[in-house]
Amino acid sequence: MSLFHFRPRRSVQRRKFIFLGMFAPAVAPRPANPRPPEPHAHPVPPPANPLQASRTRRIFDAHLHCPSDDGTVWQWHPVTRTFDEFAAYLDRTGVQRGIINSVRSQLAKDAAGFIAGNREVARRAEKSKGRFLPACVVNPLLIDEALREMEDCRRKYGMVWVGELCNYTVPYQYTIKEFELLVEQAVKLNMALDVHTELDEMQYVIEKFPRATLVFPHFGDSNEYRNIFKRIDLIAAHPNTYLDTSGYGHDRVGVLEYAVDKIGPGRILFGSDFSINDPATVIARVEHAFLTEDQRERILAGNLEALLKKVAA
Ligand SMILES: [Zn+2]
Repeated sequence: MSLFHFRPRRSVQRRKFIFLGMFAPAVAPRPANPRPPEPHAHPVPPPANPLQASRTRRIFDAHLHCPSDDGTVWQWHPVTRTFDEFAAYLDRTGVQRGIINSVRSQLAKDAAGFIAGNREVARRAEKSKGRFLPACVVNPLLIDEALREMEDCRRKYGMVWVGELCNYTVPYQYTIKEFELLVEQAVKLNMALDVHTELDEMQYVIEKFPRATLVFPHFGDSNEYRNIFKRIDLIAAHPNTYLDTSGYGHDRVGVLEYAVDKIGPGRILFGSDFSINDPATVIARVEHAFLTEDQRERILAGNLEALLKKVAA
């Protein structure tokens, strides 16, 4: 959920909602037909200060947008403008490792732009001595350059992750032929493909590309309550797909537990969407959730490590 990219309907809705947030008890959307409580025996975690607890945990963030050398940063009001400030904030919240994609590549209007952004994250990842892993972002509307760039990122820079691709920032539809070619290239190069979607887009991509290793950010989408369980159920039904915990719906108590019940503990990845959102809110929800220690550790780092092993093979 890149709150920066104003899909007109959603951002207006969203902003209004946030400002009214303090009246949330009065205006928060009430589920039309609240789910009957399922008699699940969830392990009750010991009372813990989540941020203290997270200090001792391995936390590997699958969803990071890092600022560019040209000063471009994704933040409603920029307070971590440089890469050092970006990394220091992750230190502060207890995030040890992460997959970084370049805001410069996300906003690029030409191939030179997305290539320059990918080179930036490659340099930073190398300098971080493994703390950060670089992700490749391309624009399928420039398909020849995009396919070549994916090949270079995989072969020359060891990148195994494409995205997060946010089609609405460009914009393009995931139904275009060029996107099909991009997915085929990701499958051929054994790279994980991370795409931002609304429910209908998620459904299309999952059904269209069963051989791809697909990562979908966010439990919910802009129709948060209406679609959140349908999105989780879609992931549950397709073993080649993963869901990251960032953004919409991560703070809704019970949603993470539902996701673990349906998907299982192995395909939920810790994701924050930082530098837009604070990783600490996701960490707090995972720490407080009714999960076993093993489930918590797999979500916070283990699952992403296992996925990276799979695509690096
Ligand atoms: Zn994002």
